[in-house]
Amino acid sequence: MSHYSHQFIEPHSHQLPVGKVVCVGRNYACHAKEMNSPVPEEPILFIKPNTALQSFEDAIILPADAPDDLHYETEIAILVGKPLTHATVEDAHNAIEGIGLALDLTKRNLQRKLKEKGLPWEKSKAFDNSCPLSPFMPFTHTTNLLDIHFTLQINHQTKQHGHSKDMLFSVSYLMSYISQHFTLLPGDVVLTGTPEGVGALKAGDSIVASLSSTLRLKTNVCSHATA
Ligand code: ZN
Repeated sequence: MSHYSHQFIEPHSHQLPVGKVVCVGRNYACHAKEMNSPVPEEPILFIKPNTALQSFEDAIILPADAPDDLHYETEIAILVGKPLTHATVEDAHNAIEGIGLALDLTKRNLQRKLKEKGLPWEKSKAFDNSCPLSPFMPFTHTTNLLDIHFTLQINHQTKQHGHSKDMLFSVSYLMSYISQHFTLLPGDVVLTGTPEGVGALKAGDSIVASLSSTLRLKTNVCSHATA
């Protein structure tokens, strides 16, 4: 299985090593509702290390310690092209290098237990291979950040259908906000939250994901034992 951490990705004109992944929780009102969680007043942030990354089309292996507990969350991924520290929204916008698709894989029961105890989420979110990531489409001045739609189908059924206009916090705002807390570097990736429709994966599932009309990706789910 290939790890992005050992590779370079090719956004378009030049290559960037992939760094950390900064994720945003509950950025779509309907997802907050399905989780019985309040809509946040400011973005909820957490980080996956680059060891969480794998190529989107590599098989998803159910974790040996929790094979029934792996949930998908389909999210628009933003590739950062310039360093951002305490950046304005405009500077953040100008630092967008590419747009792709990611899964924020989550051990949901473990996350619930950690939340109940008031503990950090990392064990449920930041484990190895918890972030399948697509190639990036170049971001240009014609890209409309408010009109990106994406879908996730499992076994030919549409499970998630998201649209960027439904984000509670916009992409550029999120990047600016993140940069007040963590410096974003070229090659870092921002995951912008999942719409409603999350659920558990099981061995044998076949997955097709699409981003607008430009990206279409396939993968499948295997049990640890057969991988
Ligand atoms: Zn997520």
